[in-house]
Amino acid sequence: MPEEFIPFARPDITDRELEAVTECVRSGWLTTGPRVAALEERFAARVGAAHAVAMNSCTAALHVALAALEVGAGDDVVTTPYTFAATAAVIEHVGATPVFADINALTFNLDPHELKAKLSSKTKAVIVVHFGGLAADIDEIAALCVSRGIRIIHDAAHSFPATYKGRVLGSIGDVTCFSFYATKTMTCGEGGMLCTSSQEVAERCRILTLHGLSRDAHSRYSAGGRWYYEILYPGFKYNMPDISASLALVQLSRVEEMRSKREWISDQYDRAFSSYEELIVPFRPAHDLHSWHLYPLRIDLERLDIDRAEFIRHLTKLGIGTSVHFIPLHIHPYYRERYRYRPQDFPCAHQQYLREISLPIYSKMEAGDVDRVIEAVTKVVRQHRA
Ligand SMILES: *Cc1c(COP(=O)(O)O)cnc(C)c1O
Repeated sequence: MPEEFIPFARPDITDRELEAVTECVRSGWLTTGPRVAALEERFAARVGAAHAVAMNSCTAALHVALAALEVGAGDDVVTTPYTFAATAAVIEHVGATPVFADINALTFNLDPHELKAKLSSKTKAVIVVHFGGLAADIDEIAALCVSRGIRIIHDAAHSFPATYKGRVLGSIGDVTCFSFYATKTMTCGEGGMLCTSSQEVAERCRILTLHGLSRDAHSRYSAGGRWYYEILYPGFKYNMPDISASLALVQLSRVEEMRSKREWISDQYDRAFSSYEELIVPFRPAHDLHSWHLYPLRIDLERLDIDRAEFIRHLTKLGIGTSVHFIPLHIHPYYRERYRYRPQDFPCAHQQYLREISLPIYSKMEAGDVDRVIEAVTKVVRQHRA
């Protein structure tokens, strides 16, 4: 019997989540209602944000954030090319121009020096991606942006519940967006959360999230609610349903339990791989919490006789699922052709892309699964030394 394939990611769903969803469905209230309100309240308290607005994805949250901050045609928004499609697509959706700044080779996060070179009088906002669960250098970025009136949106899709200088992401800066997609650090299948300290931004986001209406469905249809509403903006259909929130509420209560399991896995990997010159383990913050959404291992191509794609093929044959984070945006056809980018325009992003392999890291992994990943990776290294 061949050993079972270890998938790259798997959600951690217990009977508690199943019971909560069943109870929600039985209650007869399926769309946005009391469970979404409870999730927003508990999430805001958990990260220390004044306001939290639930949505059906992090992409929706990023889009609404830009719209609420009145970013639009003629504006530049700076972000890194080392991110998922959504981060830059929402900039295009509001009619603004994405401007890329390269990453730091150690952290995969936006390099403040590269950012500085890309700021101009057209820069309206910066979207800071906190890669893999490691907080970017927020203070250095804020020092460049705040005095120029440039707004900061944190793409923390990977990074709940990571901290920066002791503060949980979501409590810092203008707006922070989180993802509850199936592979992320807590999930409800699809979902997202926008956190902000501004009452005005929160109110605008809430309205934009549900058709631009002045009152949401729960307060319109529940006992004592009113039938009257007004359309204030041509809004979006981005609200989170209560079915999703019922699942997310249980996941939220388990988020540190799941994070510490992932941290344990990252420790096992670090210990096993650190003695191999061919492998570069991820950067680890000395004092802050890493959410360990990803374990981005890098291979030293000079010390191996195979490239990253071949390395992954060998791991697949050994029954290990992996992924690559990320194929930089500037080498994808849309951005390459529209903005005439060449791979070397963002040399660090391109270099990391060629060497990166994301290993399985999720709370459903057993100790034996972790050992099998370690055995497979070290076996491929031993067989392919240059
Ligand atoms: C997953 C992800 C998103 C989008 O999250 P969704 O909830 O799937 O919309 C945005 N940015 C980054 C960096 C991501 O990895």
